[in-house]
Amino acid sequence: MKTLRGIGASDHVAVERIYFLEKVNLDVKEINGCNPSEELVKYKNANNIALHELKDLFIKTSEVDLETAQVFDIHQMMLEDLDYVEGVESIIEKGKNVEFAVKTTGDKFQTLFATMDDELLNARAYDVKDITSRLIRILKGIKEEEVSINGRFILISEDLLPSDIVRFDHKQIAGFVTKYGSKTSHAAILARTLNLPIVVNLKDRFDEIPHLGMMALNGLTGEVVINPNQYILDIYAKKLQEEKELQVEFEKYRNKSAITKSGHHVLVAANIGSLSDADLVIENDADAVGLFRSEFVYLESKEYPSEEKQFSIYKQVLQKCSPRNVVIRTLDIGADKTCDYFHLDKEENPALGYRAIRICLKEPELFKTQLRALYRASYYGNLSIMFPMITHTEQVAMILEIIEEVKSQLILEGVPMNPVEIGIMIETPAAVMISDKLAGMVDFFSIGTNDLTQYTLAVDRMNSKIEDLFDSGHESVLRMIALATKNAHEKNIWVGICGESASDLALLPFYLDIHIDELSVSPGKVLKLKKAIIESH
Ligand code: PEP
Ligand code: MG
Repeated sequence: MKTLRGIGASDHVAVERIYFLEKVNLDVKEINGCNPSEELVKYKNANNIALHELKDLFIKTSEVDLETAQVFDIHQMMLEDLDYVEGVESIIEKGKNVEFAVKTTGDKFQTLFATMDDELLNARAYDVKDITSRLIRILKGIKEEEVSINGRFILISEDLLPSDIVRFDHKQIAGFVTKYGSKTSHAAILARTLNLPIVVNLKDRFDEIPHLGMMALNGLTGEVVINPNQYILDIYAKKLQEEKELQVEFEKYRNKSAITKSGHHVLVAANIGSLSDADLVIENDADAVGLFRSEFVYLESKEYPSEEKQFSIYKQVLQKCSPRNVVIRTLDIGADKTCDYFHLDKEENPALGYRAIRICLKEPELFKTQLRALYRASYYGNLSIMFPMITHTEQVAMILEIIEEVKSQLILEGVPMNPVEIGIMIETPAAVMISDKLAGMVDFFSIGTNDLTQYTLAVDRMNSKIEDLFDSGHESVLRMIALATKNAHEKNIWVGICGESASDLALLPFYLDIHIDELSVSPGKVLKLKKAIIESH
């Protein structure tokens, strides 16, 4: 037995088998004097297998997320692209081995795409890399890693990308452990959304995890026990039993409105990041979606998502969640959330840098594409749009102007739309201090306590060394929340909290005291929060 400790980022426990997500070695050697016709047969066979794999992946993924699945469709087309095929064949005809021919052709096309003067085409470089790796893996006789164990397991990986996770059946995953990351990394948010434990940032101790065996995982304390003894197993069994019993208890609050004993009604909403998460909104009985982090649509894509692609996702989310109100936040990229195809420069202080609305207002075409998709989707449900990282009234004025332009154009095109509420995130001290002015410009506020805590306390939310200082219950943060809420209510607009601390029950009496209108939390925490509100005065 061995105990390691990382950062617990989702307060659940699990005891399951270890399942390692391996990165396979795809190095190839150059061999001369090969028989071209034999190598060509190998190439054709590998191509066929790759096409089959991609078809299967498309079918499997489209059941969960059609948008992500389309990547596998594109990959099938690329495998059959004549220039790519001819590139491989011409090297084989020179007597080289097929693995080398595929690698050389792949590298050539990758460089070609990466250096083109078009960001969309730049993104194709990653797709070429993907199909090339697939072919080499097949040629080396390595099967695509499949979840070959039955039952549940704890997924272990240095880092978890959205594309890693779609390969698994979510129901089989009991928890996650990663070498890198923080409480707010994508994997952590996903784990909380799925109600699973995650321990991140094990750093070098990650390398001590064996590739086989059992693991006990505590997503609250960050404890990772490898091959736990009976004593530990008993403790975890008790914790699991308690979790089950609590879940039964929370179920009693399904279909109930969260109204305190003194009659204050709080909407309990859910935070989500993808189309497939929309099911969790309904499963967990959320009253609304308080935050749809639209940047995940961009993060899960290998190129700028088109207006059509975004429209289709937003429309489906709205339809699925109808009649609930859905707050979709516009792109909040930058800082910890980066996409290669944005080609963002490395910055000294990324959290204070070129991110979120700052990018959107400097790149209006990108912004307008998203706004067009959103307004087109508005027809299919109850949409509110929210803007992140606001610091200046001028930003809001600019946003409102751009919205008018987008709407006028859509009206000219005869596109049907529904009325849309406009809100802003209050997640900078600047926004709090001018919230009296901002409240007169929009329909609602949503307080992002993750960033508000970071900026108020000057504590980097990604830095695990100072995690003890990251306190969303600090008096300064609470005063900020109270001030913004007061200013909003004075202008008769509603206020929600969508940062992680919205689910902090220790802060609930304070939120009720200031008459917060909505708390938006991970879907799995909705019923627990409803119970706590209903039992409050
Ligand atoms: C926040 O800052 O509190 C928030 C909800 O946004 P994000 O965590 O996506 O930055
Ligand atoms: Mg934020």
